[in-house]
Amino acid sequence: MFDALADRLEDAWKKLRGQDKITEANMQDALKEVRRALLEADVNLQVVKTFIADVEKAAIGAEVIAGVNPGQQLIKIVYDELVKVMGESNVPLAQAENAPTVILMAGLQGTGKTTATAKLALYLRKQQRTALMVATDIYRPAAIDQLVTLGEQIEVPVFELGNQANPVDIATQGVEKAKEMGIDTVIIDTAGRLQIDEEMMLELARVKKAVNPDDTLLVVDAMTGQEAANLTRTFHDQIGVTGAILTKMDGDTRGGAALSVRQISGQPIKFVGVGEKVEALQPFYPDRMASRILS
Ligand code: GDP
Repeated sequence: MFDALADRLEDAWKKLRGQDKITEANMQDALKEVRRALLEADVNLQVVKTFIADVEKAAIGAEVIAGVNPGQQLIKIVYDELVKVMGESNVPLAQAENAPTVILMAGLQGTGKTTATAKLALYLRKQQRTALMVATDIYRPAAIDQLVTLGEQIEVPVFELGNQANPVDIATQGVEKAKEMGIDTVIIDTAGRLQIDEEMMLELARVKKAVNPDDTLLVVDAMTGQEAANLTRTFHDQIGVTGAILTKMDGDTRGGAALSVRQISGQPIKFVGVGEKVEALQPFYPDRMASRILS
């Protein structure tokens, strides 16, 4: 398992052969390799630092198991720690006691927010649940049409009031509409900008306050790598997120953004997007992601 990292750890760990405990001193070279591997997997530098400190704590004093390559032993410790930091198991979507459950989608433009809105709606539909998608992105030309088209494709209704209405009104009326229709989950697609700007954040905060969502999901493009950390910090500080969806995991990224998002927000990644099609959504599993990061 994890042959590339194992090869690199080999030299660092030759020194350790014949010793019976992992110590701070004899682990440094190996940890440097782990650090490099995580950076190559696009984990944010600060996040790597904290993570390495945790691994160090977990590893120091561990007995070197006879007959086991110490490099493999450290990889196991790193893997276990990665799984632990990313949350051990899958965390499902929030579900309100009284319908409708309200899910607010947040994130920058182009990350796959609108697509993820439709993916989630289809995912719910496949579980015999009902969804209403609400189009509040009044700024991006064609954003509303995009959601309406996706809705037709997956046979999920879309609530919209055109692009002259106020996003707060659209969102509130969308939730009311879901109540009227007896729909169990409302997914609100919101506006994103190419870069974080104050106005977008204030508007998102207003929408959030108005609908009091059960889940606020930050949609993060896994290909943004290191940047995912800053993005998460800003959204979490200013809006407060309760989970994330990591999109574009079908690309060649190793997925280090997952570790950054989780560690910085403290909130679980709930799903990963693995393609442009509406079916391309999978629940997030920390163990699979840990394997990918170390691959
Ligand atoms: P939004 O601006 O955040 O609403 O982004 P969109 O939902 O319009 O998606 C932007 C682009 O990313 C579109 O071309 C989508 O097809 C594409 N996209 C979204 N999710 C994924 C994914 O998981 N994998 C891939 N490869 N492309 C995706």
